[in-house]
Amino acid sequence: TRQFDARALREEFPILQRLVRGGKPLIYLDSAATSQKPAAVIQALEDFYRTTNANIHRGVYELSEAATLAYDQARAKVARLINAPDPRECIFVRNTTEAINLVAQSWGRANLGPGDIVVLSLLEHHSNIVPWQLIARERGAELRYIDIDESGRLLLEQLDEYLASGRVKLVSVTHVSNALGTITPVAEIVERAHAAGAVVLVDGAQSVPHLPVDVQALGVDFYAFSGHKMLGPMGIGVLYGRRELLEAMPPFLGGGDMIRTVTLEESTWADLPAKFEAGTPSVADAVALGVAVDYLQRLSMPAIRQHEMELVRYALARLDEIPGVTLYGPVGEDRSGVVSFTLGDVHPHDIAGILDSEGIAIRAGHHCAQPLMRRLGVVATARASVYLYNTEEDIDRLVDALLIVRQLFNIED
Ligand code: PMP
Repeated sequence: TRQFDARALREEFPILQRLVRGGKPLIYLDSAATSQKPAAVIQALEDFYRTTNANIHRGVYELSEAATLAYDQARAKVARLINAPDPRECIFVRNTTEAINLVAQSWGRANLGPGDIVVLSLLEHHSNIVPWQLIARERGAELRYIDIDESGRLLLEQLDEYLASGRVKLVSVTHVSNALGTITPVAEIVERAHAAGAVVLVDGAQSVPHLPVDVQALGVDFYAFSGHKMLGPMGIGVLYGRRELLEAMPPFLGGGDMIRTVTLEESTWADLPAKFEAGTPSVADAVALGVAVDYLQRLSMPAIRQHEMELVRYALARLDEIPGVTLYGPVGEDRSGVVSFTLGDVHPHDIAGILDSEGIAIRAGHHCAQPLMRRLGVVATARASVYLYNTEEDIDRLVDALLIVRQLFNIED
């Protein structure tokens, strides 16, 4: 009764047809790091360079007009995917990291001062910590972190305590933890933050690829995500920002395309979104991201979410049967397609190495979330993460390989 057939979808991903490690089928369980790309997305890149390549905006000739149109259409597709009120509120950037740095450097420098507080959480990826450390140090602002409970859920009481200080200017939290799979209650966080007069940025790197996301329903002020984790190319990402905020913000990067007028002394800025897109953008990558969005919407985000929930439920149950396995992260509806685990005292890098020899790609390490690992009391975890092309057979192969790891390391029951 699947709404779509993951096994059939695999055929559309060229890389999933290749063999690794001397002839083993590739079992790809690292989509939280980056997703694989369907043939349609790869084809879109080639088509752009073969048929449409020209710089945008500047040309009055046919190719330049076609490239500009394709770029604008890709922006409109992205805006529809997240239900942004206006495509001009979607800025193309390189990735989530750049989107967050844009807000920190532009909004942050203009709005943060001594004694102001930026609230983050212990679930954050380094890319939603370090940009705030940089700007907070420069502006004399302070950082606070919302703690988690044992299952990896945010302790919202602590957010309330921080907000009660009256000094919180910004709350910046992830929608989905890349290390634990926790889905955070963004709408509730926004409601509380807005009631206290704070602006909210959400790191959507792990949510837009996997869940239906509606920025208006969530009420967020800024929302950042990466194309490469959602079937699109590397090198293209999106910052959604509410129009009034983006219009009031100074530019992040200066240069061509982002100006209205330039004199020797000063410049004025182009309208949105150009104000934040200095220089020649990754047009081909944006266009291919638009094709990835089409692909996701054809399957439908609720169906993708449903498929991943079933896979994760299956994976958690199967891994739980393996003596010595410790699972991290919440169990329930607020859990995405990420399964973090340890096995006895085997170092996660050893687990990943043995799995690799079986053709299975998983991640091992701190997952760019060192404060979270420290909070959990581990140096690292092994992480399997699923996407729309994974099947229960992939999980079965993972479990088989973990049984080999147990044997090799003589893990006691
Ligand atoms: N935030 C989260 C939650 C992530 O999982 C990642 C990627 N691992 C990022 C931010 C950074 O994304 P990118 O490297 O594409 O900028």
